[in-house]
Amino acid sequence: MSNGPQPSPSRVGIVGAGQLARMMGEAAGDMGLEITVLATTLDDAAVATCDAAILGDPKDLFALEQLAELVDVITFDHELVNLEHLRRLEARGVLVRPSADALEFAVDKAHQRRSFRDAQIPVPDFLVVSSAQDEHLEAFLEGLDQPPVVKAARGGYDGRGVLFPNDKLEALSMIEELCVSGEVVVEERLKLQGEVAQLIARGVDGQVAVYPLVTTVQANGMCIEVDYPALATNELNETAHELGEQIASLIDAVGVLAIEFFITTSGLLVNEIALRPHNSGHWTIEGARTSQFANHLLCVCGEVPGEVSPLAPSAVMVNVVGSDQPGSFEKAQAVEGALVHDYGKSWRPDRKLGHVTVLGDSREWAHVRAWESAIAYGTRTREV
Ligand code: ADP
Repeated sequence: MSNGPQPSPSRVGIVGAGQLARMMGEAAGDMGLEITVLATTLDDAAVATCDAAILGDPKDLFALEQLAELVDVITFDHELVNLEHLRRLEARGVLVRPSADALEFAVDKAHQRRSFRDAQIPVPDFLVVSSAQDEHLEAFLEGLDQPPVVKAARGGYDGRGVLFPNDKLEALSMIEELCVSGEVVVEERLKLQGEVAQLIARGVDGQVAVYPLVTTVQANGMCIEVDYPALATNELNETAHELGEQIASLIDAVGVLAIEFFITTSGLLVNEIALRPHNSGHWTIEGARTSQFANHLLCVCGEVPGEVSPLAPSAVMVNVVGSDQPGSFEKAQAVEGALVHDYGKSWRPDRKLGHVTVLGDSREWAHVRAWESAIAYGTRTREV
């Protein structure tokens, strides 16, 4: 076998076939890449945009082995994966990007909080416990001026697995309940001034492209809106950029890394990270020179990340989160400036079904139109 330069991977396997894989599939069309998804059903959102699909459980070693047979590199649509299986594939020489070691920071909130604290990356004050009888828990709870936030270390997403007890007693019972499935992160409940997200694309050789910071707006633990530019001072923009680069190199990320930050009176604290395209970057499809989906694929295929400067002074992205009744896709598209994305999913209340991006000269203009379009489409309206 030759030890000369290897050709760049061009057959990409994605574990999971949700809307993120769907949008990677859309981006791959122009890039000469072939995408195969590991889907749980043929109705999964990405099956329609990708070149091939195999059916299987993302946590099943056999399904992962089948995927590995068909592709040059494996990447991810979500982090509900079995790290040990991924390590076994890596040991056999399968290219897994990001690596299992990097993914562990996103899969396991306890590992993430501990490692970031050790690296002096600012995080909320926290305690990891395996039982409500943990010897340090009483003192930790007593030291807080509010009931804590209680988080399952593994398996949560879109606010699932994140609980807000009303008092200490309720906190203890929630901790006990979550501990049945594994470690639990108990953390201080912060007074948030806002939330921002930093996206970075990082190549195999460590070269990074840092997207501009965005503001994220949540309702019931789920992101509903993203605004570029972020409602944040220059100082916060710089800090997010620096922390982003520090985290990307600490975990040796490859592909897109998203970091969600809390803005507090004492500055930025890391909430959580994802090692894949992220909801806070959907606006980059039309709003940045290289979208997060194209950049993720470039990086996992061993290319350098593409340029990420914004293409408009302002961008607002609103998620379409199903209300009780579907609205009209046509009416949503008819709103001036609305770029409407449909994930091809069946309508279900509270499900992310699509999103709308509006680019404009002013945030106010884009904001009004993005919401008008998303409401016409049938998004759940909430106080924001
Ligand atoms: P998930 O991992 O399911 O996305 P997060 O940990 O991001 O959940 O929490 C969801 C939302 O809950 C956050 O975006 C934030 O609005 C709120 N939240 C989470 N942790 C805290 C905290 N320590 N203090 C205050 N609000 C929090």
